[in-house]
Amino acid sequence: MRSIYVCIGCAAIYLPPESMTYPTLGLAASPTHCTDPSCAAAVREAVVMSGLPEEKLGELARRAVGLEGEPRRPRLNHRAARGRRAAAAPAGGRSKLR
Ligand SMILES: [Zn+2]
Repeated sequence: MRSIYVCIGCAAIYLPPESMTYPTLGLAASPTHCTDPSCAAAVREAVVMSGLPEEKLGELARRAVGLEGEPRRPRLNHRAARGRRAAAAPAGGRSKLR
């Protein structure tokens, strides 16, 4: 199965060729950033700062956005119940009686 990647620089989701090279661009695909040069520079710095190998950082990013690992499920104990009106304003709320 081909991996879908997420750019750590701009959060773009991309699907590089299986060869991990873009022959027409003469570029190597990265597991951590898209082809935008500013992303490449920012992510190179992030890799150095994190002290993690680039592949590991890419994996963590994919996991964080739900592209890898267990599928993300909606939270069950969500506070705001759907379809319920927000609590009325205590005082000073507009009323028809005024
Ligand atoms: Zn990017």
